[in-house]
Amino acid sequence: MLSLYLHFPFCKRKCFYCDFFSMAAERAEIAAYCAALEKEISLMAGKYAHMPVDTVFIGGGTPSIVPESLMDGVLAAVRNHFTIAEGAEFTSEANPGTLRDGWLNTMVANGMNRLSIGVQAQQEHLLKLLGRMHDFPMALAAFAMAKKHGITNINADAMFGLPKQGVSDYVETLRALADAGATHLSAYALQVEEGTLLAAQVAEGTLRVPNQDETADMLEAGISSLSNLGFERYEISNYARPGFACRHNIGYWTQKHYLGLGVSAASHLPASPDATPAVYTRRQNTHDIKQYMAALAEGVLPPASVTGVAAKEAMFETVMLGLRMVQGLRYADFAALHGQTLQAVYGEAIRKLTNEGLLETPCVNEPRLMLTARGLAVQNTALMAFLQED
Ligand code: SF4
Repeated sequence: MLSLYLHFPFCKRKCFYCDFFSMAAERAEIAAYCAALEKEISLMAGKYAHMPVDTVFIGGGTPSIVPESLMDGVLAAVRNHFTIAEGAEFTSEANPGTLRDGWLNTMVANGMNRLSIGVQAQQEHLLKLLGRMHDFPMALAAFAMAKKHGITNINADAMFGLPKQGVSDYVETLRALADAGATHLSAYALQVEEGTLLAAQVAEGTLRVPNQDETADMLEAGISSLSNLGFERYEISNYARPGFACRHNIGYWTQKHYLGLGVSAASHLPASPDATPAVYTRRQNTHDIKQYMAALAEGVLPPASVTGVAAKEAMFETVMLGLRMVQGLRYADFAALHGQTLQAVYGEAIRKLTNEGLLETPCVNEPRLMLTARGLAVQNTALMAFLQED
């Protein structure tokens, strides 16, 4: 099985905290990009079309600003070149204020059955401070429009740890998103990224980012509020109503193969047609949109860095990604993937972190390695112990 990711790097304007590559573009530029993407789809299908696709994710940028006729062409190319499995999960990101009936029609006609809406916060002052283009009524309108088109599996993004955000602001945002019909919430702490307007405001003292304790209080209040609202935390930053966990993202965290298409898209692919899942290569397309489009106009794949992953690195990645999941990593899955037991490879790190109360190894039914609540809060520190055992 394979997951597909398609990247659209266009946004109406830059949010103040965002350091992703994205640009404003006219229709002609978006059309040229879509033509390049269709070419890349056809070239990559030559290598991977034999793998049925069980999840598709359209991300950006803002996919909902891509004109529907252009999006239709790209999705037709996907359907013509790949086999989409029965019951596949098909998600697209969208931003409030850019969602349109025509766009939703096109997406649903092409198989989209899950929408991810970038809301971030309910409060007007926070949306302004983040440089978002929408207000909360626009976000509610996006939910209503999605439901009108039969989409009942809806994620909303929310942020915490924002300047001028109180615990109650965050909790009210989560409640409002649940009330609006979200079945899934991705709730991330703000990262102040170098080079952004927000970073400059923080550096000059115009804005103050909550300290570690304040951010931890928001995290805890959010976890408890979402649990009361019927959402289960299944990954460090992701919560779902029963049956609505995101299959595409679980694929990332459990090291399933995925093919990323578009400028700057990343892939995790079998090293050879008969390689085991533990032997894979990483492919990272160029971040330069001009280079990306020029290569595809010549009919060749865009420049990309392609690296094989050594066995030890692959094992660490299994642990690092597996421990993001609240259910942790099954001993049996690690052994099946790598041919060695977790104890044999990481016995010392497991002992150390268990003694420190950061890790537990419950043995009910299927032995697994899990971070404790405290371990989840300091995940990066915990992972260092596994790195040091290399
Ligand atoms: S909409 Fe998303 S990708 Fe675009 S600038 Fe804002 S945060 Fe970045």
